[in-house]
Amino acid sequence: MSVNEWANQVIKQSQIDKYLINGKDFINEKEISEKLKLCKNNDKNYIRNIIEKSKSIETLTPDEVASLLNVTDNDLWEEMYEAGAEIKRKVYDNRIVFFAPLYCSNLCVNGCKYCGFRTNNKEEKRRILNMDEIKKETEFVVDEGHKRMIVVYGEHPLSDIDYMCESIKAVYDVKKKSPNGNGYGNIRRVNVNAAPMSTEDLVKLKNVGIGTYQVFQETYNRNIYKELHPFGPKSDYRWRLYALHRAMDAGIDDLAIGALFGLYDWKFEVMGLIYHALDLEKQFGIGPHTISFPRLMPASGTSFFSDTKYLVNNDEFKKLVTVLRLAVPYTGLIITARESPEVRDEVINVGCTQIDASTRIGVGGYSENNGKQYKEKQQFMLGDTRSLDEMIKILAKKDTITSFCTAGYRCGRTGDKIMGLLKGCVEGKFCKLNAVLTFKEYLEDYASPETKIVGEKVIQKEIDEISNLPFFKEHGLYNKLMDYYNKISKGERDVYL
Ligand code: SAM
Ligand code: SF4
Repeated sequence: MSVNEWANQVIKQSQIDKYLINGKDFINEKEISEKLKLCKNNDKNYIRNIIEKSKSIETLTPDEVASLLNVTDNDLWEEMYEAGAEIKRKVYDNRIVFFAPLYCSNLCVNGCKYCGFRTNNKEEKRRILNMDEIKKETEFVVDEGHKRMIVVYGEHPLSDIDYMCESIKAVYDVKKKSPNGNGYGNIRRVNVNAAPMSTEDLVKLKNVGIGTYQVFQETYNRNIYKELHPFGPKSDYRWRLYALHRAMDAGIDDLAIGALFGLYDWKFEVMGLIYHALDLEKQFGIGPHTISFPRLMPASGTSFFSDTKYLVNNDEFKKLVTVLRLAVPYTGLIITARESPEVRDEVINVGCTQIDASTRIGVGGYSENNGKQYKEKQQFMLGDTRSLDEMIKILAKKDTITSFCTAGYRCGRTGDKIMGLLKGCVEGKFCKLNAVLTFKEYLEDYASPETKIVGEKVIQKEIDEISNLPFFKEHGLYNKLMDYYNKISKGERDVYL
C-alpha cells in the first residue's frame, strides 16, 4: 500500500467510525434474526394496538415491526392494508408526486452480481453523456411535463463528483417552451442516486443545489453483501452503511434509503431499513425523507435473477410496503417503474407517495430512441412503461391529485422542518395548495384533452374542499390560492406558496 492509499484508508475509516454508538454498528444481524424469531404474536388485540399506534402517526419499534412482519392471519393483513391507506391520507392527503430518472452514465468499476452495469458485463455498451446530451435528455423529460428528476450514475472516475455537479447544473439550465406554446417547463428539483462519497464531495453536491441524496444499501446482511459485491469500492459494506450519515454532516438533510428486494430474506431487509431510519433519527433528529424498495429485475449478461432463492412475490411485496408504511408513517415511499402496471396500481393504495412515469433507463434512452425502449440499452427490464399523461389520468379518475410541487425544498422546508410539519400533519394541508397550482400548470401546458377534463374535475373538488376548511380561510390562504391560480390561467408559471 502506498502512503497515499494508506492515508486515504485512515481518513475513510474515521468517516465511518465516528457514527458508532458504544463501538457498535446500528445493524446487528443476530439481533434482527432473533427479533424475527421471537416477535410472533397473532393475538388480534396486540396487533391492533400496534396498528392504532401507527394511525396516530407514531414510529414503531423494531419489536413491533417484527410482530407485524410475522402476522399470518389474513384478516389482520386486510386491516393493515386499510390502515396503510388511512395513514397515507392523513399525512399526505390524496396527493402523489411524480419524478423521472435520468441515467447519465453506465460506466462502472464495481462487480455487483445482479446489475447490468457491472464492469465485467461484456454485453453492456458503455456510454457517458456529455453536457449537450444531458440537456437534450432533459428537454425530452421536460416536454412530458416533469418537474422533478433523479440523476443516476455508475461508479467510475469519469463520472466523479465534478462530472456529477456539472451534469446537475446542465439539467437545471434547461428551460423550454411547452409543446402547445401555453407556458414553459423546467426541472425544479434534481435528486441524486450515486455511490457513497466522502463528506468533502457531499458538500460539493449540496452546493450545486440537489434535492434528495439517495443510496440503497442493497442488502443489510453483511455476508450476502460480501458475496454479491466481490470487488470495487462498493465491496465496503460499512462505507455504504454510513453514506447518509456523512451526507447529514455535509448539510444534506433530505436523504433516501432503500434495499434491493430479492437479494436476501425480505423480512430481514425491512428490519434493516427500519434500523437505518431509526439510527438517522437518533443521531441527527431527522429520519429519511423517503424509503425505496426496488425489486430485483432480470438484467443483461447475468442469470442472477433466475438463480436467487430470495425473489419476493407480489403478495409479499404488498405486505412489505404496508409494514414500511405503518412503521414510519411520516416517511415518503417510492414505487418505481420496475413494477408492472397491475402491481403499481395495487400497491400505490397501501401508502406510496412517489412514482415515476414515462421512464427510460437506457443511457440516452429519452431523446435518441424516439420514445421507444431499447432492451440492450437498459440496466434492467422495466415493468411499467406508461406515460406520465396516462398515469395522471388513471389516478385522477380515482380522485388522486398529481403534485409537481418543489416549493418545500426551495423555501427551506426540508430535513427537521419538513419532518416536524409531516409529523404534525401540517405539511398535508400546506402542500394541498401547491398541488393544485402545479397540477393546474401541468393541465394548461402538457395534458392531453382527456386528461385535462378529468384533471380539472379533481382540481375543482380540491378547491371546493379548501374553501370549506377553516384553516385555509383563517390564514388567508384560500384567497392567495385563488389569486395564484388565476395568474397561472393567464400564463404565469412557477408560482407557489
Ligand atoms: N451505482 C450507484 C450505486 O450502486 O449505488 C447508483 C446507481 S445504481 C444503477 C442504482 C440502483 O439500481 C442500485 O442501488 C440497485 O439497487 C438498483 N439495481 C441494480 N441492479 C438491479 C436489478 N437487476 N433490478 C433492479 N434494481 C437494480
Ligand atoms: Fe455499478 Fe451501481 Fe450497477 Fe453496482 S448497482 S454495478 S455500483 S451501477
